Amino acid sequence: MKFPKEINAYCSSCRAHKVHKVKLASKGRPRTLAKGNRAHQRSLMGHGSKRAGEKTVKKQGKKQKLMLQCSECKKKQERVVGGRTTKRIELQA
Ligand SMILES: [Zn+2]
Repeated sequence: MKFPKEINAYCSSCRAHKVHKVKLASKGRPRTLAKGNRAHQRSLMGHGSKRAGEKTVKKQGKKQKLMLQCSECKKKQERVVGGRTTKRIELQA
């Protein structure tokens, strides 16, 4: 999927449409002992209907996130493009 490097988007702090720079949003480092992570590990151990390590439904594609940065106030915002896509987003010149 192709996407332009600069788009005109609404900036909530400028309260107007401004030119935004587009970058791929990085996922960042996960917290090691996050609460949801521990709960997931517990659910995999058993005592429930979930089978360990088996997924019944395979998701088609991923949600691709972009980071938009306002060219005037430098405020950043995230945007999900295209719902679930199987291909990576390429930024065009
Ligand atoms: Zn702005």
